[in-house]
Amino acid sequence: MSSSEVDFKFLAENSADVICRAGTDRVIRYISPSCLTLFGYEREEMEGGVVDPFVFPEDLPKVKASVERSRPQGVLHEGVTIRMRKKDGSLVWTEVNGRVVRDEMTGKALEFVLVMRDVTERKLLEEKLAALAMTDGLTGIANRRAFDEALEREWKLTLRHGKQVSLLLLDIDHFKPFNDEYGHQVGDDCLRAVAQAAAGAVRISDIVARYGGEELAIILPQTDTAGAWEAAEKVRLAIEGLRIPHEGNPEGGGWVTASIGAATALALLGGTMRMPEGLLQAADHALYKAKHGGRNRVEGGMLIVPRELAIVA
Ligand code: GH3
Ligand code: MG
Ligand code: MG
Repeated sequence: MSSSEVDFKFLAENSADVICRAGTDRVIRYISPSCLTLFGYEREEMEGGVVDPFVFPEDLPKVKASVERSRPQGVLHEGVTIRMRKKDGSLVWTEVNGRVVRDEMTGKALEFVLVMRDVTERKLLEEKLAALAMTDGLTGIANRRAFDEALEREWKLTLRHGKQVSLLLLDIDHFKPFNDEYGHQVGDDCLRAVAQAAAGAVRISDIVARYGGEELAIILPQTDTAGAWEAAEKVRLAIEGLRIPHEGNPEGGGWVTASIGAATALALLGGTMRMPEGLLQAADHALYKAKHGGRNRVEGGMLIVPRELAIVA
């Protein structure tokens, strides 16, 4: 054994990270003993076989692509973060970095020297932070940013599948006098209750978001005008059914109520709307009608979007 090989073994066998040598055929030629801590396998169980069965199947294409990308040139192996399967069946988020060892004469890739590190905690933290960035702090439902992203996504899906999408805009009736009468804190509690009631009244696949101060927006994927109306009525009744007293709301019978504007977008020939902004405008217009028509009610509208214009938008 050459002295550099001795050095390598010494470093590898005393490292908390897993050090691995693998061929371009993904066969594991050497793996350091810390694989027992990280993956639950003895090194003998991993050495000599391909890495594939140890990788979570969904992440295997990432591994293969990374190996392919490293073949033509460079010594730095492009890092990937993948899920490895532990012996007990659980998954461990693993960051894999390393170098490509090449034949000095031909430049051909011979093998990879990889450093594998458990990054599960960091991954979970990242996921939590990402979820937090999409959640409204007061009500716990999706925030405006999540709504904007979801609306774009749903509209693209609507175009692809040639279906319809509906949107509800909801505004609590006379909420300013509610705050004035009962205090801002009670106003916040009321908002939370309304958000939960709305979320509980629609399907799990619908997206309920806080659109603004005391306004909610609800995306109803694959829902036509009749379906949107039905959902809006359910939401309206759920809020009325909370029976939160609100003396300054005579139009709502002395309870907290909400007005709802519903709009459905249909991609057809002959419209002029930009999407998905047009859907928001139509729902907002319907909400305005509901407010002026006596509150605690649903008003609806439909808009026709030229398919070719909508696809470009
Ligand atoms: P209407 O919608 O029926 O026309 O009357 P409104 O009194 O609800 O109308 P407006 O939109 O002018 O008032 C909204 C009020 O909602 C203003 C503000 O005091 C209250 N509001 C907005 N965001 C919050 C919040 O986060 N917490 C509380 N407590 N109140 C809020
Ligand atoms: Mg408002
Ligand atoms: Mg209001």
